[in-house]
Amino acid sequence: MSTKKKLSGQVAIVTGASSGIGAGVAKALAQAGAAVVVNYSSSPDKAEAVLTDIKSNGGEGFTIRADVSKEQDVLNMFAETFKRYKTVDILINNAGLQKDSKFHEMTLEEWNRVMDINLTGQFLCAREAIKEFLRRGIDETKSLSAGKIICMSSVHEVIPWAGHANYSASKGGVMMLMKSIAQEYAPQKIRVNSIGPGAIRTPINHAAWQTPAAYNNLLKLIPSKRIGEVEDIGRAAVWLASDDSEYVNGITLFVDGGMLLYPGFEDNG
Ligand code: NAD
Repeated sequence: MSTKKKLSGQVAIVTGASSGIGAGVAKALAQAGAAVVVNYSSSPDKAEAVLTDIKSNGGEGFTIRADVSKEQDVLNMFAETFKRYKTVDILINNAGLQKDSKFHEMTLEEWNRVMDINLTGQFLCAREAIKEFLRRGIDETKSLSAGKIICMSSVHEVIPWAGHANYSASKGGVMMLMKSIAQEYAPQKIRVNSIGPGAIRTPINHAAWQTPAAYNNLLKLIPSKRIGEVEDIGRAAVWLASDDSEYVNGITLFVDGGMLLYPGFEDNG
């Protein structure tokens, strides 16, 4: 007897899927049965490697270059997706970066670059996804929702982060973007949620886990006493994208080993 996979017949676009969390989520969605559009901005080889992994595990998809901060690139990515698969069911708004600097030394370029990719990029992709979800409506053979958007936020949508004001401001923005869209389109059965990763082992934060000293220091911030892996985020994304979470809308699901639990108070403060 064959059991239908949770995301069978659905199409997912994953932005920034050539590396780190995006790559992990792309593979997890494919394992759950979705066809995956593997977006990348500058590393076609890495994106192809992710697609090869997906295909070798029986999944399907294609790679596409698009800078999510460029409107025309985003329009082209959605157009190509519709050409190949007719529609899209799931958007993982994952692409993001850091340009760290002391605040008084932060250049306008560093500020704008982070906002353009982390926040405006999520706006542009979400807008195109919502248009398609509204056009298509619900197809109950695939899902009880008309479409799902998952925004990759961060614990820094709520934890202030000295030396990273542009990044934490962008993630605070993602939180209100996510909630506002969730509220606006809930009546149309479109679900919009975020994942708030804590520290996940990826290239974005390699300095924090690369050496034993750095890793031990990092663990002071994590009550669960281990760094997160991209598979932890992949499982959360599959759940948020599937009908298992059909009544969940407008939340941030923190996947952080307890980082938000004020670990400084572990020993009575
Ligand atoms: P990463 O650097 O491995 O991945 C980021 C991805 O975004 C890369 O594939 C990169 O090519 C892509 N990207 C950057 N600019 C882009 C653009 N203009 N257009 C399209 N793609 C672009 O880092 P990661 O840790 O996997 O980060 C993924 C997301 O998770 C980011 O939004 C990040 O803020 C968030 N996050 C990560 C952590 C963590 O601990 N790793 C924690 C909280 C939040």
